[in-house]
Amino acid sequence: MNAHASPARPLSVGRYAPSPTGSLHLGNLRTALAAYLSARARDGRFLVRIEDLDRNRSRPDLIVEQLADLEALGIEWDSEPLRQSGRGDIYAGHFERLKRTGLVYPCFCSRKDVQAALSAPHAPAGRGYPGTCANLPAAVAQERIARGDRHSWRLRVQQAPKSFFDGFAGEFRYDLEAEGGDFVLLRSDGFFAYQFACALDDALSGVTEVLRGADLLDSGLRQAYVLACLRLAPPRYCHIPLMMDEGSGRLSKRRGSADLRAFADAGFDALAVRSYLAHTLGLCEVGEWPAMTELVERWDLARVPREEVLFSQQTLAAFGESQSP
Ligand SMILES: [Zn+2]
Repeated sequence: MNAHASPARPLSVGRYAPSPTGSLHLGNLRTALAAYLSARARDGRFLVRIEDLDRNRSRPDLIVEQLADLEALGIEWDSEPLRQSGRGDIYAGHFERLKRTGLVYPCFCSRKDVQAALSAPHAPAGRGYPGTCANLPAAVAQERIARGDRHSWRLRVQQAPKSFFDGFAGEFRYDLEAEGGDFVLLRSDGFFAYQFACALDDALSGVTEVLRGADLLDSGLRQAYVLACLRLAPPRYCHIPLMMDEGSGRLSKRRGSADLRAFADAGFDALAVRSYLAHTLGLCEVGEWPAMTELVERWDLARVPREEVLFSQQTLAAFGESQSP
């Protein structure tokens, strides 16, 4: 054996991909921490990607703030964060490839048209898109595009699997055709949609595990399907239950609820917050402050609670108090 062989390429690559449209709340930070621990527990690489495709809502100051929050928690990433806003050409290249398969088609419906079609007396129940433009003759579609009619591009879902395997939730059944319908990959404003850019970036970055909140479970199925259509290998998806606020509502970035600065102002050290989050992931007792290396050691997806976790100001306070001697 050659003792000087270069280390093998790490097999595991995890990631966290925030969109800079609001401050990260505790639920976001909890997922980021879990994704990081899961990658590091397998000696894997960890990437951060900035999902700033929506230029009207993305704010550069929030990119700086979000990265600073991750750093404050001790989360480190292995290469310069990718920014989706600079990757339009890459997305376009893969989209052209998809176009040639006939799996995408131009849709000329406005949001209003879709809503009107769905509320018509004989509209198919439960659908997100009724398929209005799915079978337009190619000549008609080409003519409308040529004359400048506003259009998005949708992916046909008839061939999509009706279930997928989630690393946390197990088998997840979801009938895209019946419940969602053909979905948009390229928006009418010229920007690529979340489902396309996110799935593609994960595959192109060599991400092997996407660990994120359970609110994105059906996105996991869509993204795995997008990658199958592109003949790219999907990562393993793990969707863990969310953290909810005390009124049992969802924590919301836009409401700015419970972000790291608010806790700092209230006198909580970032590491107290991290320890609290680790506690909600089943990794430590109340008041315990494990080092990051210790958390990596303890990480086990099986310890993550199966149910949503209720944010508790009282439990967090117990971590804050344990910091002073
Ligand atoms: Zn349409």
